[in-house]
Amino acid sequence: MSSRKQYIAGNWKMNKLSAEAASLAAEIVKGSKNASCRVMIAPPFTSLGEVSKVVKGSNVILGAQNMSNEKSGAHTGEISIDMLKDLGVGVVILGHSERRIIYGETDQFINSKIKLAMKEKMEVIFCVGETLEEREAGKASEIVSKQVINGLKDIAKTDLSMITIAYEPVWAIGTGKTATDKDADDVHSIIRKTLTKIYSADVAEKMVIQYGGSVKPENAAKLLSMENIDGALVGGASLKAEQFLAIVNCAK
Ligand code: PEP
Repeated sequence: MSSRKQYIAGNWKMNKLSAEAASLAAEIVKGSKNASCRVMIAPPFTSLGEVSKVVKGSNVILGAQNMSNEKSGAHTGEISIDMLKDLGVGVVILGHSERRIIYGETDQFINSKIKLAMKEKMEVIFCVGETLEEREAGKASEIVSKQVINGLKDIAKTDLSMITIAYEPVWAIGTGKTATDKDADDVHSIIRKTLTKIYSADVAEKMVIQYGGSVKPENAAKLLSMENIDGALVGGASLKAEQFLAIVNCAK
């Protein structure tokens, strides 16, 4: 039995206006009072201020979905780490496949954001995952390991307690297709082996690795019972309190 605390995070993506976000957050705060896992919600930037007031003093952590790799300055349309901190954000999702694929974020660019987050003491959920073509070509392990190595380049071992890895196979995100428990666990185990190679076995053993990709109340318990799966990054099902809380309740 591992000592890793399970961690359930909701990525609301580009959904919910401020009032809806505040009311969803209030339901989640109420329903997570006795949660045995860590619980995080990441509303869109425009709702962070409202949701921040709702989660204050609760055990729900406020997350952001992205941030700039620069601390401040002439970056039209970007959101800085200080702006997130100012709103009470404690964790930022970086390297999500939608950012990688639609907005062209590279491993190196994501690494620069992770470095900034570490320097400024902000927790990170660092997403990795292969596309369908890469999986079908038998390259899933190679791709995911490369993303882990490049994303964590020059990140000190002592900073890793601030990083959670989310394994999100791109073909399972928002598609209703979930990786089988065994397939997901196998990739999580490969991520741990990669961490052992770049850091050490004790670091790899401590690292929390979430699974993401069409996690729902119906499949959460099985996924979360796997040896190497320590939580979930949830998209669609995090937009309904009842579904998200059902997943939270599956966590140990
Ligand atoms: C996600 O976007 O991180 C995600 C896992 O989405 P979904 O749960 O909708 O597949």
